[in-house]
Amino acid sequence: MALINIQQIINEGLCIGCGLCASIFPEKVSIGLSIGGLRPIEKVPLIDEEFEYLCRVCPGVVHSGMPKKNLSEDVYIDPVWGPIERICAAHASNDSVRYKSATGGVLTALAGYLVESNRVDAILHVGSSGLKPYFGHSTISYTLSEVNENCSSIYASTSPLDKIIKVLDEGIRVALVAKPCDISTMRLLAKKDPRVDKYIPLMLSPFCGGFFPPFAMSNFLKSENVTEEEVESVSYRGNGCPGPTSIKLDNGSRIEKSYLDFWGKDSSQWHMPWRCRICPDGTGEGADISTGDTWPECTPTEEMISNDLGTNTVIARTSKGAELLQLAEESGYLDIDYECISSDMDKLQPHLAKKKIKALARFDGMRSCGQAGLSTVDLRSDLLSQTTSYDEFIKESKGTAARIKEGKHLDGYKIK
Ligand SMILES: Cc1cc2nc3c(=O)[nH]c(=O)nc-3n(C[C@H](O)[C@H](O)[C@H](O)COP(=O)(O)OP(=O)(O)OC[C@H]3O[C@@H](n4cnc5c(N)ncnc54)[C@H](O)[C@@H]3O)c2cc1C
Ligand code: SF4
Ligand code: SF4
Repeated sequence: MALINIQQIINEGLCIGCGLCASIFPEKVSIGLSIGGLRPIEKVPLIDEEFEYLCRVCPGVVHSGMPKKNLSEDVYIDPVWGPIERICAAHASNDSVRYKSATGGVLTALAGYLVESNRVDAILHVGSSGLKPYFGHSTISYTLSEVNENCSSIYASTSPLDKIIKVLDEGIRVALVAKPCDISTMRLLAKKDPRVDKYIPLMLSPFCGGFFPPFAMSNFLKSENVTEEEVESVSYRGNGCPGPTSIKLDNGSRIEKSYLDFWGKDSSQWHMPWRCRICPDGTGEGADISTGDTWPECTPTEEMISNDLGTNTVIARTSKGAELLQLAEESGYLDIDYECISSDMDKLQPHLAKKKIKALARFDGMRSCGQAGLSTVDLRSDLLSQTTSYDEFIKESKGTAARIKEGKHLDGYKIK
C-alpha cells in the first residue's frame, strides 16, 4: 500500500518523532505531544510533491546506512556490523567527563575536541527534559561546558532534528550527535540538500536498542506513588557506568534505581516503541563514529554496576571518523584502551544483530497486513536476511503480522 500522509506513518507505528518533517515544513507541520511521545501534527496537508520528498528521508519510511561515496575504497564491511575503519575500546581522558557520561564519555570527549579545536562551531545533540520532564529536547552546544552539560543517554522521546533546517539556513558548522535513525535521516537528506555535507562535516551516534515510551514511565511513576506533575527531571544513566536512573522531584527529593532494577534483570522492563522493535540498524552504520557499551550481552552484572569506570566500544566507519579518533587521542581528549575485532560485537550486542538479521522478514509481515512498511538502503538487509532459513523467515513474518493484528504497533497499545 502506498503511503498517503504523515498520519499513516504514525498509524503504522513507524514515526519515531525525530522532528525532521516539522523542520522542513514549519508552516504545515509541528511537533506535539501524543500518547506515543513526540509526534508530528499536520496542521495543513502537505501537497503530493512535499510528501514525496518527506518519504525519501523520513526514518518512518526508509532507514539508511552509510552511502558508498562516504566510504574509503578499502574499508572493511562486516556483513552484520557494517563499515569499519577501526574498532577499539576507549574512554574520555577527563575523569569527570568519563564519570558523568553514559558509558565512558567518548561521544562527549569527541564533541568537546571538535568544539575546542574549532573544527565545528557547535554540537547539535540533545539535552534532558522537554515537553515532559522525562523527555529530551534538541540543543546546540557552542562551548565545552555546554557540550559536557548535555552528556549522557536519554532513553525517551526526543526530536533531535527539529532544528536541523534552521542550522542549515544559518550556515552553522555543526557535528551532529544523534541516534542511528536520526543519522540515517541526515544521510538521506544529504542526497537532496548539499548543505548537509557542507555544514555537518561529522556525524556521531550511540548504539541504540530503543527507548522508553511514555506509558512505561507513567507505569513506573505510579509504582513509586509519584504523579508526573511532581517530577522535575530525570537522569537515565551517567554518574557512574551505567549509573543510577535518578528521578528528581519538585520537593527536592530523588528516586534512584540501579540500572538492573529500573530496566529489569532480564530486560523485562525494556518496553519500546514499535519502530524500535523492528529497527534494521541500531549500530549507527551511517555515522562517522558510533559507540556503545562493553558489557557482555549488553547487560552489566551487579559487580560491574559498582566497579565499572566506563569504557566504550568505538567504531570508526569512515576515514574522517578514524582521523577524528586519532586527533582526539593525540590532543588528550580520549584514551584508547585496546583494539577490537568486529566479531567482538557479536558478544556485546547480540540483540542488535538479531534485529538487523530479522528486519526484512518483519517488513514482509508488515506488508502482508496491507501496511506500506519500512525499507532500507545501504544496510545489506537482503544479504542478512538470506542467512536465515526460509522457515525462519516465514515464522518471523507471520509473528510480526500477528503482533500487528493484535495492535502492538499502535502508539496507544499499552494504554488501558
Ligand atoms: C535510546 C538509547 C538506546 C541505547 N541502546 C544501547 C544499546 O542497545 N547498546 C549499547 O551498547 N548502548 C546503548 N545505549 C547507550 C550508548 O551505548 C551510549 O550512550 C553510548 O555508548 C555513548 O556513550 P558515551 O559515554 O560516549 O556518551 P556520552 O558522552 O554520555 O554522550 C551521549 C551523547 O548522546 C546524545 N544523546 C543522548 N540521548 C540521546 C537521544 N535519545 N537521542 C539523540 N541523542 C542522544 C547526548 O546529547 C550526548 O551528546 C543507548 C543509548 C540511548 C540514548
Ligand atoms: S519519523 Fe520524523 S520525519 Fe518521519 S513523520 Fe515522524 S517526526 Fe516526521
Ligand atoms: S532503536 Fe532504531 S528506531 Fe529506535 S530510537 Fe534506536 S535507532 Fe531509532
